[in-house]
Amino acid sequence: MPMRPSIVNVYLVRAGATWTLVDTGMNTPASVAAFRAVLDEVGIPEHAIVRLVATHHHVDHFGTSGPYRELTHAEVYLHPLEAERTTSFRSVSGEPTEYLRRHGVPEVAPDARLPPPSRFFGSWYAPAEPDHLLADEDEIPLGDGRSVEVVWTPGHTPGHCCLLLQPDGILFVGDHLLPKITPHVGLWPNGPENPLGDFLASHEKIQRLDARLVCPAHGGVYEDHRRRARQLIDFHRVRKLAMLEEIRRRPRTAYDVALSVFAIAPDNRFQVFAATLETLAHLELLRREGRALRAERDGVVTYQGR
Ligand SMILES: [Zn+2]
Repeated sequence: MPMRPSIVNVYLVRAGATWTLVDTGMNTPASVAAFRAVLDEVGIPEHAIVRLVATHHHVDHFGTSGPYRELTHAEVYLHPLEAERTTSFRSVSGEPTEYLRRHGVPEVAPDARLPPPSRFFGSWYAPAEPDHLLADEDEIPLGDGRSVEVVWTPGHTPGHCCLLLQPDGILFVGDHLLPKITPHVGLWPNGPENPLGDFLASHEKIQRLDARLVCPAHGGVYEDHRRRARQLIDFHRVRKLAMLEEIRRRPRTAYDVALSVFAIAPDNRFQVFAATLETLAHLELLRREGRALRAERDGVVTYQGR
């Protein structure tokens, strides 16, 4: 990928003579060339890929679904909350300037604002129209005794799904349960009201599954999904406490707290954007837990610990 993390893993699952592709990578020439080289190397004819199941709609996971569907004639599976976002993506006009302003982010000149995602990603994002919509606990038979169980894990995105391959006990986790990094979980305008609460609940849920191997979208394959889920829950608990400490003495905006808690460059608009939304997700969870109060004054929202 032309950005960090620079590698996304996609997985091919065999069932008899057919194959299922889990996620696609971005639609860049390098990514497509790497994928086709693997098909040649392993000896998989394009038409043997009959299914394409995506964990979520992001550009590195679903970006090549359009071209690969044309190439292979595979049927495409995606959660409806993700499918919605592949379409609305085109109409997002740029950064939500008003939303950012309300949460304390300083305004910048129009040409310094974030570009619309459709312009930023351009041809890298070529999403397919899904043939099937995924739902929690769906079972997709792959043939030859294998199947995939769908585990809805909202948080990173509202319709994110993990996929448990049976009887092998291999868990494809997309961005939900990465071995080395934590995925972005932010409070987006027009998104779910408590994304971090959803994310943490999804980590409780994933611990109830039995799996012997975890296949993440970024980083190496590993064992013990429960241990990693507990680490991530703990990580966010600590971060939440750090934010609570920041708002103990006086009310502060999410932007202000983000600058204290995240190592970001204030003139990097993308970092400011991501960190502010991520801070908001934590502050909003603190508020729901009764540990913070939210106030709005002159169109600016602040949070204070109680
Ligand atoms: Zn993602």
